Amino acid sequence: MTNLLPEMAEIWQQTLNWQPTLQQQAQFQRLYELILEGNRQLNLTRITDPQEFWEKHLWDSLRGIAPLLSTNFSPAFPAIIDIGTGAGFPGIPVTITVPNCTITLLDSTRKKITFIDNILTELAFTNAKTLVGRAEEIGHHPQHRLAYDIALIRAVGAASVCAEYTLPLLKQGGLAIIYRGNWTEDETTALQNALKQLGGAIESIEQFTTPLSHSIRHCIYLRKVATTAVQFPRAIGVPTQKPL
Ligand code: SAH
Repeated sequence: MTNLLPEMAEIWQQTLNWQPTLQQQAQFQRLYELILEGNRQLNLTRITDPQEFWEKHLWDSLRGIAPLLSTNFSPAFPAIIDIGTGAGFPGIPVTITVPNCTITLLDSTRKKITFIDNILTELAFTNAKTLVGRAEEIGHHPQHRLAYDIALIRAVGAASVCAEYTLPLLKQGGLAIIYRGNWTEDETTALQNALKQLGGAIESIEQFTTPLSHSIRHCIYLRKVATTAVQFPRAIGVPTQKPL
């Protein structure tokens, strides 16, 4: 028996003012099947139930980029990077949903990137590519530093670590989107302190409730408002060992 993802057209409409096309719906389904298959060999995700997959992997990925789903988002052809994409989240749902973007899916684990390469081929995406590497290195690479309009990061580390990984990769004026579960005032204070050194500013912090299990989630939107000093990101491991 195949596992069928729920459609949830009404919930997409109510929560994001957006609905997948039939093609996007089919791509979500295919993505889900490929992840279930991949899970037999690789430990990709513990989320395999169709409803839970829909909510935690599809809906959550797209809730973070809600601003991009509105028609007047600028730039119209954003360059996006997903840092620590793992099995492809939030990057692959974003690739499916924002076809006019170009997206780079970065992870330090080669096995995961090989799996994603297979998904990109199966789904015949032309707007996505993969990259094996550490954010601390990629952030100094001339091809990637200052190259992106949007940087996405989910479940990779503390917010100040995420800020140190994302901001060097952004163009001036670019946007970092940090996906979080809980969020506290203390985290805002710590993040603000890190941002002073990194040339970023908190643009908004959005709290929302997921539509099926009613869990609380947050997205932190950071704007790159100044140059990031050349010493950032620091050497491999330092951002997590000594958060700013
Ligand atoms: N974003 C995915 C996966 C989260 S798990 C999701 O939300 O489902 C964290 C992933 O980040 C792992 O796949 C790990 O290999 C990768 N990662 C951790 N630190 C990294 C770094 N410094 N640079 C690149 N990838 C990193």
